[in-house]
Amino acid sequence: MLTANINGNRSRPFPGTVGTCPFCYSEMIPRCGEIKVHHWAHKSKTDCDHWWEPETDWHRNWKNEFPLRWQERVFTDETTGERHIADVFTLAGLTVEVQHSHLDPEERRAREAFYKNMLWIVDGSRLKGNRKNITEWRNGLAEIVQGQKRTNLFLTDKAEELFPKDWLECPVPVCFDYMGPNAELSAAPQPLFLLYPGTVHRKRLVEPLPRDGLLRSILSERLDANSIHNIMQNVSKLRVGKIQR
Ligand SMILES: [Zn+2]
Repeated sequence: MLTANINGNRSRPFPGTVGTCPFCYSEMIPRCGEIKVHHWAHKSKTDCDHWWEPETDWHRNWKNEFPLRWQERVFTDETTGERHIADVFTLAGLTVEVQHSHLDPEERRAREAFYKNMLWIVDGSRLKGNRKNITEWRNGLAEIVQGQKRTNLFLTDKAEELFPKDWLECPVPVCFDYMGPNAELSAAPQPLFLLYPGTVHRKRLVEPLPRDGLLRSILSERLDANSIHNIMQNVSKLRVGKIQR
């Protein structure tokens, strides 16, 4: 974890101190070495959130793109009492969950039902087949042009070749990061790919983005459920002929 409570305040780890886990309240010790991103570790194995995955630096670096007060927010369902800790929760109410390892589809659906207005950031570099296919992404995506203007929105009927198949059915947007821990360092850097939920013109809608482009979209509330719905609506009204490869 990147944050722990010290005297009731959320704090970054620093040497010589002890914190408390904001979720399970057990003792946490700072890990401030020279190699990994500084973080807190539970002092002993505890029953923390069972949705929690052991974090890679890739995961920590994504969370650190956001202000400390948005990181690792604890949520309680008022009806069921179910509690979970979200990676990031924005001021506008969007939960961002970062996922490196394989996620059981049932747990994925449970998290989507719990957080509702959410965005996944998924490590696309985990599977070799996906890493290979993404280098050819321009062959599988066709850009939507409005008037003379390019939109940077692309339609594809090859989503299952480009993206990890476990994530294709999500009812919320999923952003794939192919520059994750297993990235092919020799290959050209790839943008992030934002896969919109559902279909439009019987195809999938995809937006390639640089990292700061995604962050700007999140900060400007363009990825909230309502905004996503509006973007999909606008694209559905376009004439499909206006698409360029
Ligand atoms: Zn804990």
